[in-house]
Amino acid sequence: MRLMGIVQTLTSAGREIVSVLLPSPCVVCGGELPVRARRGSCCEACWSALPRLVPPRCERCALPWSTAQANGTFTCVDCIADPPPLDWIDAWGLYEGGLSELLQAFKFRGHDFLARHLGTLLLEALDARGDREFDAIVPVPIHKSRHRTRGFNQAALLGAALTDASGIEMDERLLLKCEARAPQAGLAKAERRANARGAYAAAAAVAGKRILLVDDIATTGETLRACALELSRRKARGVAALVVARTP
Ligand SMILES: [Zn+2]
Ligand SMILES: [Zn+2]
Repeated sequence: MRLMGIVQTLTSAGREIVSVLLPSPCVVCGGELPVRARRGSCCEACWSALPRLVPPRCERCALPWSTAQANGTFTCVDCIADPPPLDWIDAWGLYEGGLSELLQAFKFRGHDFLARHLGTLLLEALDARGDREFDAIVPVPIHKSRHRTRGFNQAALLGAALTDASGIEMDERLLLKCEARAPQAGLAKAERRANARGAYAAAAAVAGKRILLVDDIATTGETLRACALELSRRKARGVAALVVARTP
């Protein structure tokens, strides 16, 4: 316990080194983590079994659909009735199984060194989408009180990893969370919308820019909608959003 306390005070790179030196199981299967066949704290076998989101899926919000109901691209009923104020929302995978284990370790258990590996997934999803015409990557911001308790913004770590992989600059100053709100988890869809709206403030510098929002998970998409509405209010030229995982 005391050793883990010391480990928590180390930098991300320091913790990754410690996780190599100390016996540390794969966060997904709990099996022994070989030094070479691993991605951060995930073994290669679990990494290659992560649940990828494959077509058909909604071209606007990436909602997965069964092959029996649609072939190729389609737009889901929610996006037809209430179109998201974004060019598109896309995700690398599904928030289930190994990917949910990995993202929880990343966000809540100090495995921030997974960001680099998760960033490669974001780049893969961006390349699959075939749209890289962005002026800036903007991580979905968290309120400064949340930042104090968690110590980092998981979206900013992912955004920085995607910058390294893609060459698209990240600018965290373009969007702030100006009001602390209850966590979206546990709220119904309608409550999530009310809870997210008006919580964000974009900088005047977003005017004329096409923005790629980055986050770890999208559930109902209400956080992304609220961010995009605020960026559009400040005259962003366009907004799209990329997440590691969306709920099935
Ligand atoms: Zn494993
Ligand atoms: Zn949709």
